[in-house]
Parts: sequence; C-alpha cells; structure tokens
Amino acid sequence: MKFDVAIIGGGLAGLTCGIRLAEQGKRCAIISAGQSALHFSSGSLDFLSYREDGSAISHPLAELATLSPEHPYSLLGAECVSRMAAEARRLLNDCGLRFYGDIEQNHLRVTPLGTLRATWLSPTEVPVAELEQPLPWKKIAIVGIEGFLDFQPQLAAGSLSDKGIEVITDYLHVPALDRLRNNPSEFRAINIARVLDLPENTELLAEELIRLSGDVEALILPACIGLENPDAVTLLRQRVGKPVMLVPTLPPSLLGMRMHMALRRRFQQLGGQFMPGDAVLRAETEGQNVTRIYTRNHTDIPVVAQQVVLASGSFFSNGLIAEFDRIYEPVFGLDVHDAAQRADWTQESMFSAQPYLRFGVKTDSQLHGTVAGQSLNNLYIIGAVLGGYDPISQGCGAGVSLVTAQYAAEQILALSEVAA
Ligand SMILES: Cc1cc2nc3c(=O)[nH]c(=O)nc-3n(C[C@H](O)[C@H](O)[C@H](O)COP(=O)(O)OP(=O)(O)OC[C@H]3O[C@@H](n4cnc5c(N)ncnc54)[C@H](O)[C@@H]3O)c2cc1C
Repeated sequence: MKFDVAIIGGGLAGLTCGIRLAEQGKRCAIISAGQSALHFSSGSLDFLSYREDGSAISHPLAELATLSPEHPYSLLGAECVSRMAAEARRLLNDCGLRFYGDIEQNHLRVTPLGTLRATWLSPTEVPVAELEQPLPWKKIAIVGIEGFLDFQPQLAAGSLSDKGIEVITDYLHVPALDRLRNNPSEFRAINIARVLDLPENTELLAEELIRLSGDVEALILPACIGLENPDAVTLLRQRVGKPVMLVPTLPPSLLGMRMHMALRRRFQQLGGQFMPGDAVLRAETEGQNVTRIYTRNHTDIPVVAQQVVLASGSFFSNGLIAEFDRIYEPVFGLDVHDAAQRADWTQESMFSAQPYLRFGVKTDSQLHGTVAGQSLNNLYIIGAVLGGYDPISQGCGAGVSLVTAQYAAEQILALSEVAA
C-alpha cells in the first residue's frame, strides 16, 4: 500500500493534518486505532488559556514569549504559531464547523458544572462571556432531562447563581425519550440526540421549550441535540424566540463527536483513506528515514509512504506508554521528555499541575522525531504525543494539535514543491 503521506492517529491533529494535505492533492492514509480525545472533549478548543500561576490569559499571542523553550509553540516561534492558528481556523470553517472566538482574545465558556473556563474557540451553541464580563443574561432556565445522569441542572445552576444570575431549573418532558430511559446505560447524550433530532420530535421539543421558557432570557440544555444536523439549535431558537444554548455533558461528548464526524467526512471527501480500528504496531527505518510501517490488520503487508506523521495522542490514546519505571513511545521508540525518578512524575495534590502531563516525544525544531538524538527526516510528530507542555494547566491542548498539524502539513507540501 503506497501513499504520499501516512498519518498514524485520527484525532484532531491527524485529521486536520490529513485534510490540509488532501486539499493540496496529496494521497494520504490515516490509520487510527480507536476513539480520540475529541469523543471526550468539551467541543471548545483551547489555544493558551492559563499562566503557571493559574490566572486566565486574555491575549494568548502576547503570552507566547513567556513559554518554556520545550513548548511546541516555542519550537515553532510566535509568528509561525499565529499563522498556523489562522490556517487551522480557515480549515475548520471549510469543514462546516461554526465557532465563536478569536485568537487575539480568549473568552469564557460555561462548563457542565456552571463554572467559567477561558478558551479560544467555542461551538456557536455554547454559552460564552467575554473575559471578566458577566454572561449576557440576568435570568435563565437550565433544563435537564429526567433520568439523564451525565448533566445535573442543579449543579450548574448553583455555580451560575453565585455569579449573580437568577437561575431556574426544570426538566424536559418528551415522551419519545421514554423507551430509551428504560435502559439507563443507553440513556446517554448521543442516543438522546438520535431521538430528539428526528424531524417528528423537533416540534414536540420546541413546544416543550416554549412551555419552559416563561420570563427567562435564555434556555440552557445539555448538549443532546444536533449530532447530525448542525442547524437543529438554530431552528429551535427561531421557534422558541429566545437563545437556546448547549453545555457539554460528561462523555461521550456530542459536541466533540460532531467535530470528529465533520473532520473525517471532509478528509474522505477530499479523497483521503481513513482506516479505523487498525493500529500501527511497528516501523522499519533505513538510515534516517522511515521506510515501512506495519499495522495490526494488514500484518505483513507494509504501508509505504514518502512522509510519515505520528499523531497518536498521549497516554490516554496509547500514543505514550507508562510502565513502572519508564515512559516510552511504542511505534518508533522515539526520544521522550520524562523524569528519571518515578516519584517526580506526579504531585501529591491532585489539583496541582501534574509533571507527567508534560511528558511526550522530543523533536527537533522542524518537529522531526529523534532516536538517540538523531532526527528521522521523514517523520513528523504532532499533537498530544508531543512533550514539553501541559494541555490541562496551560489550557493549550487543541491549539498545540491544530498548530503542529498545520506546520507538519506545510513542511511536507514545501518539500514536494522543491522536488517538483
Ligand atoms: C479526555 C480529554 C478531553 C479533552 N478535552 C479537551 C477540550 O475540551 N478542549 C481542548 O482544547 N483540549 C482537550 N483535550 C486535550 C487534547 O489532547 C487535544 O485537544 C486534542 O484533541 C488531542 O488530539 P490528538 O489528535 O493529538 O490526539 P488524540 O485525540 O489522543 O488522538 C490520537 C489517536 O491516535 C490513535 N492511535 C494511538 N496509537 C495508535 C497506533 N499505534 N496506530 C494507530 N492509531 C493510534 C488513537 O486511537 C487516537 O484515535 C482533552 C484531552 C483528553 C484526554
């Protein structure tokens, strides 16, 4: 199997890199073992949200200079990072994904607990406020779904009331959900959306929301609407005559899955080959180049590509493996940032920044992976498998994935221009 580019991992990083390459006519394959972090994510994309002291960042581009030299943004440099972020935003837009937000200024999004978190881009259905500003409503309704355990309206209401907003809570009564409700383990956001999104239920849902809307200025629901139809919430807003907003639920996350589906669809429409449920097990190299990669399903038939991109995620996705006394990258055995002593991997307080979150693959300044300090010239490392940053305490997970994905794609495209 021959491709121009083989990408290992079909999460946010692998898919957006593949889309950019496929847009330019490259023959790309994405081999992806399983679900990605997108299936569990809030649907909002962080670029750089928090400083080391925990304070929220208002102007993220102005803070790039404060990052450590190992941070992927520092490796690429501020001008490049800003350009790649703009390219990623264009690409997401072309996939039909609609976001609120701007790289020049972070905003606050409402979390399932009703707290506010700084971020870069939020799906247009998510309630947001400008930094240090209140939400734009004085009285809202938070509407839960009876029997749905992955979102508790009272929890969100408690936190939002503390911010001076008058909040009432209530529950949707939609009989169409009764059959699903009888099986609590199936009563999850995605399955609920499959029922609520049916055209015959849209009007029932609208009538129910009108009944609940009373004198509130906006209604907030768990994100269980609009999996297949991104216009579902717009239609409800028109019908109810008030803002209808969605907050992410516990995983599986509709807002994240919808993004995954849109990206995968775009990649395949552009001619990319997506190989779900397959895993790259090992690779062969000659000199400083990767020559063949071998997957679980294709056993001894190698995937051969001129360029290879590793986008296999962090520990969560098995892109990095932790054993008792070592951290390693399992496909190529690449050099990693880690800490020699296991005692230094974690901090006792679970709320502190955890050192192991900065562990990950080391690269040269062009994002080539290295083995024993020597760069592999046709292997690019992107996304959460990279080390040198903390996606949680710094709030930069999606930003690093998107920026490094665009950078790797640009490097590969530049190489083929030179060859031509
Ligand atoms: C639970 C969770 C929630 C998050 N929520 C947010 C959020 O709301 N906002 C935000 O900005 N950031 C969030 N992040 C940070 C997240 O890391 C990034 O946003 C980003 O989605 C990571 O994308 P990725 O493509 O680099 O890696 P992943 O999403 O981890 O994707 C890696 C993919 O590679 C596959 N893979 C691994 N090994 C192999 C192999 N050998 N062969 C083939 N395939 C392989 C995996 O199965 C997986 O599909 C979250 C992270 C986690 C873990």
